[in-house]
Amino acid sequence: MPLKAYDLTGRTAFVTGAAGGIGRASAVLLAAAGAAVHCADLDADGLHGTAKLIEDRGGTARTHVVDVTDRTSLAEAVRSCGRLDVMAAIAGIMHSSPVLETRDEDLDRVLSVNFKGVLYACQEAARLMLAHDTRGSIVTMASGAVDTGGPGLLCYGAAKAAVVQLTKTLASEVGRHGIRVNAVAPGWIRTPMTDRHDRAAQAHTESLMARMSPLGRVGEPDDVAHTVLYLASDASAFTTGQILRPNGGVAMP
Ligand code: NAD
Repeated sequence: MPLKAYDLTGRTAFVTGAAGGIGRASAVLLAAAGAAVHCADLDADGLHGTAKLIEDRGGTARTHVVDVTDRTSLAEAVRSCGRLDVMAAIAGIMHSSPVLETRDEDLDRVLSVNFKGVLYACQEAARLMLAHDTRGSIVTMASGAVDTGGPGLLCYGAAKAAVVQLTKTLASEVGRHGIRVNAVAPGWIRTPMTDRHDRAAQAHTESLMARMSPLGRVGEPDDVAHTVLYLASDASAFTTGQILRPNGGVAMP
């Protein structure tokens, strides 16, 4: 039996990006805390893998193959929950290009997935929570890139900065209904997104990143999933409009 404040028994959670990485780890942890978890992603095989992990541990999972940029399909999937206690809008893509080489289509694609996809998820979740008078929790996925900037991070960082703005704005608008909205801004986490395939290059990057952290290591998906669980649960009942940073203590400017 989980600690009461973290107990999600009887609650329903919807997780986007649940086929792998941070989304999968979050879906599995929310289910372990007792939530029935709706897992959404483009990747059907990955989704089934996540559902199997949840069900093998005795949890409840449902899968939705959806593109978060398709507002109608996403809305349909969210509404199929009936009642919703937790939205974790985690799906995202990486993109890197120097400012002077950034094309309109790069910007449109990254803003579409990393910002509009989160916006649609937040809107649908908040509507459903309001309709059922649910004191729910919405968790968005930003990035440490918002604090640091960095070469190539124009599109990705702009979309994540917009997610931070969305989080603070929505939190201020729905708080009086008991709905909380918070963002997670992870540092460098070992996931398919940060996998460079070239083992030597990967080891080099990880060692650089680990040296920037007082803890001397890079992050794992579970490090972020625990922050998502905290924000999803009653343990964070007095926390809204905040950006939490599971980043190993990397100093921010
Ligand atoms: P990942 O690539 O392992 O997972 C992202 C998931 O999103 C994938 O399963 C992918 O299929 C899904 N996805 C992508 N586009 C989609 C779409 N249009 N519709 C539905 N699903 C879609 O990456 P991750 O590292 O687990 O990243 C998860 C989130 O965390 C992202 O928003 C990312 O920007 C953010 N983040 C990651 C890191 C890191 O270091 N890994 C750091 C900061 C923030």
